[in-house]
Amino acid sequence: MTPISFIYGPMKSGKTARLIGDFYALSEHYKVTVVRPSIDTRSPDGYVKSRNGSELQCKVFASTDQLLSIMNASGTEVLLVDEAQFLPAETVKQLIRLSLNTALQVRFYGLMTDYLGNIFEASETITKFSQKLEPLFANCHCGKPAQFTQFTGESNGRTIIVGHDEEYFPVCTHCFLEAC
Ligand SMILES: [Zn+2]
Repeated sequence: MTPISFIYGPMKSGKTARLIGDFYALSEHYKVTVVRPSIDTRSPDGYVKSRNGSELQCKVFASTDQLLSIMNASGTEVLLVDEAQFLPAETVKQLIRLSLNTALQVRFYGLMTDYLGNIFEASETITKFSQKLEPLFANCHCGKPAQFTQFTGESNGRTIIVGHDEEYFPVCTHCFLEAC
């Protein structure tokens, strides 16, 4: 299997549903641990939750050290990271180093770009070191495949706005550029 892979796409492209499906498939052969950084407040603590209603228990971590001790405690062979765009770049690098020195496999799931179209720092680092990149697409309101996320709420200047789900829409490249 691939040591590092990145499954990325805009809001509502089914990333978490895909993670949950991967978890069950991989769990037949490996010790799989599901984690997400603690910055995301959408899901209740200890769960990743997809929009189609399925959910899975996960560990929430606030630091690289906490993540490493979660992995040690559960003998992780495959790590699935939800909301990976919110990882500190240093945590990403630690996981990549670990995958080089051990048999650890890491699958990152997350956004590539924020609603301004800028690549998240973590996503850039993950992309650079991934052996496998897999884009997921949502549906744009015009019917084309959407790879960007548009934010229709009031911007407060920050590029991470958590918990405003109803104000985010997936858009295709054409519609994204039209709105710029
Ligand atoms: Zn469109």
